[in-house]
Amino acid sequence: MPGTFDAVLKRVAGDPARAGIADLVCLLAVEGAERQAQLFRLADAIRAREMGDAVHLRGVLEFSSYCQADCYYCGLRASNSGAKRYRLRPEAIFEQAKRGATLGLGTIVLQSGEDPWYDRNTLSRLIARIARETPLAITLSLGERSYADLQAFREAGAHRYLLKHETSDRRLYRRLRPARSLSRRLRLLSWLRRLGYQVGSGCIVGLPGQTLSSLAQDIKMLRDLDVEMVGAGPFIPHPATPLGTSEPGSVDLTLKVVAVTRLLVPSAHIAATTAMATLHPQGRELALQAGANVVMPNLTPIEYRRQYEIYPAKACLDETTEHCLGCLRGRIEDIGRTLGHGRGDSPKWHTGEVTGDAGQRRR
Ligand code: SF4
Repeated sequence: MPGTFDAVLKRVAGDPARAGIADLVCLLAVEGAERQAQLFRLADAIRAREMGDAVHLRGVLEFSSYCQADCYYCGLRASNSGAKRYRLRPEAIFEQAKRGATLGLGTIVLQSGEDPWYDRNTLSRLIARIARETPLAITLSLGERSYADLQAFREAGAHRYLLKHETSDRRLYRRLRPARSLSRRLRLLSWLRRLGYQVGSGCIVGLPGQTLSSLAQDIKMLRDLDVEMVGAGPFIPHPATPLGTSEPGSVDLTLKVVAVTRLLVPSAHIAATTAMATLHPQGRELALQAGANVVMPNLTPIEYRRQYEIYPAKACLDETTEHCLGCLRGRIEDIGRTLGHGRGDSPKWHTGEVTGDAGQRRR
């Protein structure tokens, strides 16, 4: 038995390396406004101690909505023949990156479905140009690529890679990601580590069939991977997918996942996701007060945003990036936080703890 909530909270925060699944389930299961607030306050204090008060902005550019994978929870899945698809040409991607830098963003996240149209050389040239001609940190979120691709992108100048493990429950993983495996996903994450990327991972909260125990395992996995970045957002069903009639994930449970993740991975950059803002008007602010320290404004040209529909009715679809930045600044200041400046690298990056193959680091 893990003990009372108070004792478990104290023990996990004091010695996260020894926290077990039963401890994490105890924290995730906590009910009642006062106890949940206690969890969120402690996560927020650890965030302040480890990461400071700055909230870092990462500009997300969704440059292709084509995807060869078929995830049951995603509107971009290959089987969704009703989806309208688009691809931005490398020149257009570069122009958007430059716009992000001009707007004062420190990081660009190049995100797409798994789209082999962008081959190794095309992406390497694009990454090298952004690295050469802008001060931006470059984060990739391209899904599963070969080792040779990941190596080439890193050598071209990419700094970070986001690859959510989605769920650590092997049975659920097999069911929801046909023709994919958790083992391969974990192998890719180990490659990213070896190549010297700042590594991001995370899970979806509230998938049909998911248990608290599998969410606890998700968080433990993030600790064991010692990730530099985390994204954990609520599941939102898309009507044109096999999970279209399922219930969405809960905002409360997602906040608990964010908070417990902060206890276990104290120095990670943790996102307050747009999915949270989609389910709750103050979803991002709530996450920022429960351990998160990153928000991700959308840099995608407005005319394409509706076509990048992982889930419907996404927040901030029609606002210009300039408007979003002003709005986010206000929201951040309203909760007593400040806007981050510069690239907002992992604290480990500065101490040289993120290591990779010879010559691959801190470019
Ligand atoms: S979740 Fe990612 S890999 Fe899966 S279908 Fe959607 S875009 Fe493709």
